[in-house]
Amino acid sequence: MSWRRTLFFVGFWSAIALAIEYRWQSSLGWVTLALGTGLLLVLRRRHAGHVARWILSPEEDPPANVGPWDDVVAALYRRIRDQVATIQELEETSTSAMAAGQALPVGVVTLTTDLQIRWFNLAAEKQLHLKPEHDLGQNLQNIIRAPAFAAYVKGENWSEPLTLKINHASGNYNLLLRLVPYARDRTLLITRDLTQIEKLETTRRDFVANVSHEMRTPLTVLAGFVETLRDAPEGALSEQQREHFFGLMSEQAQRMQALVTDLLTLSDLETSPSAELTPVGITQLLEVARTQIEALSAGRHRWDWNIEPGVNLAGNASELSSAFSNLLTNAIRYTPDTGTISVTWQSLPDGRARFSVTDTGIGIAAEHLPRLSERFYRVDRGRSRALGGTGLGLAITKHVAMRHDAALEVQSKIGQGSCFSLVFQAERVLRTS
Ligand code: ADP
Repeated sequence: MSWRRTLFFVGFWSAIALAIEYRWQSSLGWVTLALGTGLLLVLRRRHAGHVARWILSPEEDPPANVGPWDDVVAALYRRIRDQVATIQELEETSTSAMAAGQALPVGVVTLTTDLQIRWFNLAAEKQLHLKPEHDLGQNLQNIIRAPAFAAYVKGENWSEPLTLKINHASGNYNLLLRLVPYARDRTLLITRDLTQIEKLETTRRDFVANVSHEMRTPLTVLAGFVETLRDAPEGALSEQQREHFFGLMSEQAQRMQALVTDLLTLSDLETSPSAELTPVGITQLLEVARTQIEALSAGRHRWDWNIEPGVNLAGNASELSSAFSNLLTNAIRYTPDTGTISVTWQSLPDGRARFSVTDTGIGIAAEHLPRLSERFYRVDRGRSRALGGTGLGLAITKHVAMRHDAALEVQSKIGQGSCFSLVFQAERVLRTS
């Protein structure tokens, strides 16, 4: 009942009471007035009850027509709606912060100042082998029991991280840990698994060692001959000997040149963006390769070419040419004279296309196959070097394959020969009639 209706009700009721009082000159009028007032009080009590019930469960619709409470209900309703929106916003922020925390690649554990675990993300769960059902609420020092960690906690010089060796049934690894105090009474533990970083570091060290090793031999030979030629007294070396020395020097220089060229190609493939989708005429590209490779073979091998015309690729011509040449050169290198080399370029029934080089050469034992495309991996280092190999050819071919969404496949039997194939996905294959 609004205040206007209340006023009307009071006025109306008082008028009836006055009329009764005036007409019958008895106290009946006062009784009527008292009854009206009582009725009003009962109504007010009911309205207050509605409002109180709604305050206790504000998610329900607010009560309507509750007399003088109408304004209070409207103001409260507005306040509650604003608060609900603020709470929702806070919940969303906190959910997305938690999700971001879970997705972090580093381990994060939130702790009280006395190192009781409050929360941890998935990376921390994996790296510290935590279990939410028992470890929440536990003291971190009961979980990381290494004396070095206890000393780190006590030392309170947390600006530097601590490296800890974790010995676990699933394997041993190094973990980088750091405690960071935050807020007023919280501490954060950040952990980082060093396995990947250490692996990369080892690969880098091995690569530098391999390159240095590959360069050292030709450089030593070259320097030796330069010294011999410089120090030899006049007339000590015959013209024939000099010619021979220069021939060997040029061979070593070419070896270094080949190595540097392959290293630059590999580095280009690793750093430049993916191969663009330019149409490449494979028939013409293989014609050029055929002339060059048969000249290199110089009649020592029997060649068998099966090139399907009209099957082309979307990719990078010079990368594809380098990948095909590497497979062809290897076939020459590892196939003794009079051996047969078959080259096939064909479309497959499912729309893919395959380039394959099959030789009747020395073949490769099964245990080497998975590692052939690693940089500097050779089955027989001496033989590869003697034949002018750098140990990078298949690494380059594999990179080119990846950049063209192709797969490098190898089948080989020791003593019988090998078949190296590049299989291109249908999306890369272009057909011309
Ligand atoms: P390399 O310059 O030594 O030929 P690659 O990366 O091209 O380096 O090849 C790696 C190794 O794979 C070679 O050293 C050789 O042992 C082996 N290999 C590659 N192709 C063949 C092949 N057609 N037949 C036998 N072995 C091969």
